[in-house]
Amino acid sequence: MIHKDKNFLIILSAPSGGGKSTILNEVLRVAPEIDYSVSFTTRAPRGDEKDGVHYNFVSDEEFLSRREAGDFLETAQVFGRWYGTSISFIRSRLEAKRHVIMDIDVQGAAQIGATDIPYVKIFIIPPSMEVLRARLVKRATDSAEEIAKRLAIARDELKYIPDYSYLVVNDQLETAVQDVLAIVRAEENRVSRYREPIQGFLNQE
Ligand code: 5GP
Repeated sequence: MIHKDKNFLIILSAPSGGGKSTILNEVLRVAPEIDYSVSFTTRAPRGDEKDGVHYNFVSDEEFLSRREAGDFLETAQVFGRWYGTSISFIRSRLEAKRHVIMDIDVQGAAQIGATDIPYVKIFIIPPSMEVLRARLVKRATDSAEEIAKRLAIARDELKYIPDYSYLVVNDQLETAVQDVLAIVRAEENRVSRYREPIQGFLNQE
């Protein structure tokens, strides 16, 4: 019997306001085998965000001392705030044979590519810049100045798309969610994730 024995990180990146968290929440709802990586950040909570659920909200001092201690798989500064992924959380979930989905920016995603941890990188884009602007305005949690800043940064982030394996256009939520799930399923079946089980299979009488 061949067992799939490799779990991996599902890295989602998208411009802020690209609808990534809605897709992510829906993927988590329909795929109980996937865990969410709760990042650390030094930014303040927005709206009804809860500490330990949406982010671990920490001070600059705590973030930097954790960083110094090697607690993070990757870190990046986005909009002048620190963000980072807990390495112990990721390793414990992967050892428990779970996939881990993470919502990180393009700089952080590039750092993970340099580690030995298996991953798939998916970039999510809104159908147009106009849609992105409208979503940021509708969210109404940021000032006009903040929205303009996020749009300018979005343009820069799009330049990283060639570093990703998959592109999902977030037009219809349901389709985008199905696309992400299809990518995960396809990745699970990659020959490279079966190398040892195949050897065991060939060695059978
Ligand atoms: P927001 O403040 O809007 O929740 O997130 C801002 C940006 O930070 C988004 O692009 C999001 O993907 C990114 N981000 C969130 N958590 C992490 C993390 O742990 N590492 C990195 N590199 N980026 C993150």
